Amino acid sequence: MAAVTYSDVWNLDVFFKGGSDSPELQNHLKETEELINLFQTKINNWTPSNSAQDSEFLQEVLRDFEKTGKKLRQAGAFIGCLLAQNTEDKKAYALDSQVTGLSAAFQTVLGAFHNLLTSIDDKVWDNIISLASLKELGFILSEWRERAKEKLSKEEEALINALGVDGYHSWGQLYDLIVSKIKVPFTENGEEKQLSVGQAFNKFSNPDREIRQAVFENWEKAWGDQADLLAKTLNHLSGFRLNVYKKRGWDEVLKEPLSINRMKKETLDTMWAVITENKEKLVKYLERKAQLLGLEKLSWFDLDAPYGTTESKLSYQEGAQFIEENFAKFGEKLSAFAKMAFEEQWIEAADRPGKAPGGFCTYLPESEQSRIFMTYSGTPSNVSTLAHELGHGFHTYAMRGVPHINRLYAMNVAETASTFAEMIVADASVKSAKNEEEKLVLLDDKIQRTVALLMNIHARFLFETRFYEERKQGPISVERLNEVMLEAQREAYCDALEEYHPLFWASKLHFFITGVPFYNFPYTFGYLFSLGIYAQALAEGKGYEEKYIALLRDTASMTVEDLAAKHLQVNLTEKDFWEKAVGICLEDIDEFLELTEGK
Ligand SMILES: [Zn+2]
Repeated sequence: MAAVTYSDVWNLDVFFKGGSDSPELQNHLKETEELINLFQTKINNWTPSNSAQDSEFLQEVLRDFEKTGKKLRQAGAFIGCLLAQNTEDKKAYALDSQVTGLSAAFQTVLGAFHNLLTSIDDKVWDNIISLASLKELGFILSEWRERAKEKLSKEEEALINALGVDGYHSWGQLYDLIVSKIKVPFTENGEEKQLSVGQAFNKFSNPDREIRQAVFENWEKAWGDQADLLAKTLNHLSGFRLNVYKKRGWDEVLKEPLSINRMKKETLDTMWAVITENKEKLVKYLERKAQLLGLEKLSWFDLDAPYGTTESKLSYQEGAQFIEENFAKFGEKLSAFAKMAFEEQWIEAADRPGKAPGGFCTYLPESEQSRIFMTYSGTPSNVSTLAHELGHGFHTYAMRGVPHINRLYAMNVAETASTFAEMIVADASVKSAKNEEEKLVLLDDKIQRTVALLMNIHARFLFETRFYEERKQGPISVERLNEVMLEAQREAYCDALEEYHPLFWASKLHFFITGVPFYNFPYTFGYLFSLGIYAQALAEGKGYEEKYIALLRDTASMTVEDLAAKHLQVNLTEKDFWEKAVGICLEDIDEFLELTEGK
């Protein structure tokens, strides 16, 4: 039997023929705009009667919302694919800004709609959402209404949004502009080069310590030179956010991020408490790694240093088969999904110039298909990335038939299926390593990620919460920012490092993102949440897949506490679940410590 050969180029023509020149896409965008206008007219003309009659209107509006939302997403995802496959596609950039404009208009109408829901009395509301036809959507509808209730009046919120364009959001954009001008000098082969911050950052994973150290010195200096501008930017960005919170009567800075992620403060506190209690072993790993590198202690710039290199390469075909085989050990549906994605050309993996860096998985709702983007050159980490993105694809695939408004999951559960799929494949890679050296390289790669999520992200979280508390009293100086960051890093890394990165508040883009506040703890939550499910799957064996799918289908229509109680029979505000999840990470460290004993 001849082996099938999968194509490593995706098929986009099934959506719109002709790429950025597609007349079909032009029509689609026109239709989307018309739908948004229609939606707007309907909302503007609606005054809730505050009776059961409102339910009919609500159902009609929800149908419109679904249709419009899907159309918008279909276009946005397709254009995202065009931009990724060819970064020189100028027409795609123009199309992209067109979609951004449409999305903004749609969001504004939605805001007005959510606000109107607040004028319906609680009693009438409860009756409406318990109707058979709306029951399934009750959680999200009530969430919209509750969130609108906690905000200011429609007019005031509209004013905040309008002022935010040149206030709040422009501070975030100013950050990007300042960063784009920063150059980090670096001497290579006797020649001094000016690296962009992205290029300089990549040097931190260079195996040569002298290179890492030299880049780090210049890195700190480059950020230090701009520190006053960056501190001003951060102070005003956070000041704007805090002022809005104050006007709305919110005193907890974590209120909004927790609400967006549909989780309780108690859950977050329990997660960090369990992590903190288990850091001893992470510190042992850092000590061993230092020893292996011939150092007393690691420094900040050593954290991404690889343990070694592996020569092993898998062709795209071999990588695909490895993934399918190992997915099959978990469940048939996951494996069949991967096979379909490979066969039906859902994946763009070709290693050629002109592609964007990185990887993603995007969903085209009108076609009920996903597309995966990455550059595959055959390394074990490429195979893991491919499995990761297929996991994202499986998440949306598992949600087939779930209403559109119940599919918009938050950041903290967005990585559930991807991390899960990646773990299956990364564990299989470690098991099938050709020799001990290769096994160590693969293990080290996994542990580095654990260190990043349990220590680096922890430092970001500690810094950001403390910074926002202090900022309530007024702007904070560069010196103080450095101090708060240094303290957070020392604490998060348990004093295990020789040298830290006090200017991390400046070099980390995530503190300057205005679209989502607190762009840190959801990463750690998502990672451990997925590992906790993985621990259950390992314990229960092959029959687990149906339960897993049932959980995925509910990820966007309940709180994480309810999700875990319903599908995992665990209480996320208690330590048990988190201890099991952290335990999975610690097993890798145990193995690493054992294999490197005496080396
Ligand atoms: Zn992902």
